Amino acid sequence: MSRLAGKVAIITGGAAGIGLATAARFVQEGAKVLLVDIEAQMLQEAAATMDSEAVSTMVADVTQPEEVAGYVKTAVSRYGGIDILINNAGIEGDVVSTRDYSIEMFDKVMAVNVRGVWLGMKYVIPEMEKRGGGSIVITSSMAGVAGAPGFAPYAASKHAVVGLMRSIAGECAPLGIRINTVNPGLIATRMTESLTEQINPQDAAQAWRDYEERIPLKRFGTPEEVAQLMLFLASDESSYCTGGVYAVDGGMAKRR
Ligand code: NAD
Repeated sequence: MSRLAGKVAIITGGAAGIGLATAARFVQEGAKVLLVDIEAQMLQEAAATMDSEAVSTMVADVTQPEEVAGYVKTAVSRYGGIDILINNAGIEGDVVSTRDYSIEMFDKVMAVNVRGVWLGMKYVIPEMEKRGGGSIVITSSMAGVAGAPGFAPYAASKHAVVGLMRSIAGECAPLGIRINTVNPGLIATRMTESLTEQINPQDAAQAWRDYEERIPLKRFGTPEEVAQLMLFLASDESSYCTGGVYAVDGGMAKRR
C-alpha cells in the first residue's frame, strides 16, 4: 500500500469520474493529492470521501494560464514540490454532424482538452525539474487513435494531446520527466451518460446497450479500472515508460 509513498500528485478534473477514482487510488498508495476542478461544490464533496490529511482542493479553470500557474504554485507551497501530474480535465462537446457543429463549441473543446493539457505541462515541468524528475499522464481516449464520427472536434483534441505527449516526452527525457497518455474506451461516468443521451435522446439506455455490444469485453469500463493504469504510469514501476500510448478500452480501439 505504498506504491506512491512520499509522492505529490496534482489531478485535474479531480472532482468526478476518472480523476476522482485516480485520486482515491493514489491516496490508498500513500500520495498527497491536490484535486483541481472548475466545479467547487463537487470538489468539496469529492475531498470529503478521502483522508483529509492526504487530499486538498483548488478551484481552477485549466484553460486560464494564471489559474494553471496558481494550482502549480499551490501544490508546491502546500506539499513542497510536484512529482506527478494527471492531466485529465476534459469535456465531450456536442454530438452532431460537422455542418451543425458550432464554432463556439469547437473552440471550447480545444481550449479545455488541448490548451488546458498543454498549460498544465508548461507550468509543471519547471517544478518537476527542480525535483529531479516526475511523471505526467494525459487522459487521451480511444478517440485519440481512431475517428469518432459525430464528435470530430473531441477526437481531434484527443489526437492532439498524443502529439503534445510524444513531442514533450522527447524534450523532457533528459530531465527525468516521463510523459505518457492513457487512452480509455467507454468508461461509465457522467461523460458517457451525456454521450449516450445525445446519441439517442429518446432512449439513452438503448444507445448504452448498442455500445456494449461493440465492445469486445461486452461492458463499459469503470473509473477504478482506468485508475489502475494511471497508478502504474505515475509510479516508479513504469520507470522505463515514456512517450507511450496506453489503452484501457476492453479491446474496443482495435475492433473499430
Ligand atoms: P467527467 O465529466 O466525470 O470528469 C471531467 C472533469 O473535468 C469534471 O469534474 C469537470 O468539472 C472537469 N472539468 C471540465 N472542464 C474543466 C475546466 N475547464 N477546468 C477544470 N476542470 C474541468 O468525465 P470523465 O469521464 O471522468 O473524464 C475524464 C477524462 O477522461 C476526460 O479528459 C475525458 O475526455 C477522458 N475520457 C473519458 C472517457 C469515458 O468514457 N468516460 C473515455 C475516454 C477519455
